[in-house]
Amino acid sequence: VTVEPAGEGPAARILVVEDEPRFRRFLSVSLGARGYRVLEAGDAASAIRVAAEHAPDLVLLDLGLPDADGMEVLRRLREWSEVPVVVLSAREREGQKVEALDAGADDYLTKPFGAGELMARVRVALRHAGRFGAGPGDSVFRTGDLEVDRAARRVTVRGRPVHCTPIEYRLLQTLVRHAGRVVTHRILLEAVWGPHGAEQMHTLRVHMAALRRKIEEDPARPGLLVTEAGVGYRLDDGGGRE
Ligand code: CA
Repeated sequence: VTVEPAGEGPAARILVVEDEPRFRRFLSVSLGARGYRVLEAGDAASAIRVAAEHAPDLVLLDLGLPDADGMEVLRRLREWSEVPVVVLSAREREGQKVEALDAGADDYLTKPFGAGELMARVRVALRHAGRFGAGPGDSVFRTGDLEVDRAARRVTVRGRPVHCTPIEYRLLQTLVRHAGRVVTHRILLEAVWGPHGAEQMHTLRVHMAALRRKIEEDPARPGLLVTEAGVGYRLDDGGGRE
């Protein structure tokens, strides 16, 4: 068995919050096999306790817990911690994951999912935390043929300058800041139109389509600006691939 390095320095500590024993075991074994150190909690109360005692680098959080809603754990965590949280949601509770993202979760996985998808999300969340937690960060973002220089506010595709309208640039900038992770409609709408942005849903789609025509190789089959149905958009940063 090849054990790949945990990505960011010493093995990251991951807190798995999941009440179903077999699924918790699947998560722990998958993560452990990749060299991550795993902490476990089967309910909301122990999740808060373990998070406070062991300061994990990442939390995988099931939303359906026996003693409290996973949302409650997320809100409690966010009172004192910026630890990346990836929510594990059941398909029949789609609305809940949007609520969780708006409340400060970093990403989500819809059950059932495989080990490959799990590892991709974990890597993105850890890399993002590392990149934005320490150091000044690079002002130039690159993925595929796209380059966004945030200091110069310059967008290029295959080295060719792309002219973005102010709204398109604001959308792109917001997606870059969350690169690799899903950004909800609400977060995008507020970033561009402010607190009353929710009314601009149709306009958002129009601007995203325009942006795709400018940066995608094939706008009909977007590989960079990925639609997350019913949730929002994700800018692929290339890091999620195995
Ligand atoms: Ca559950």
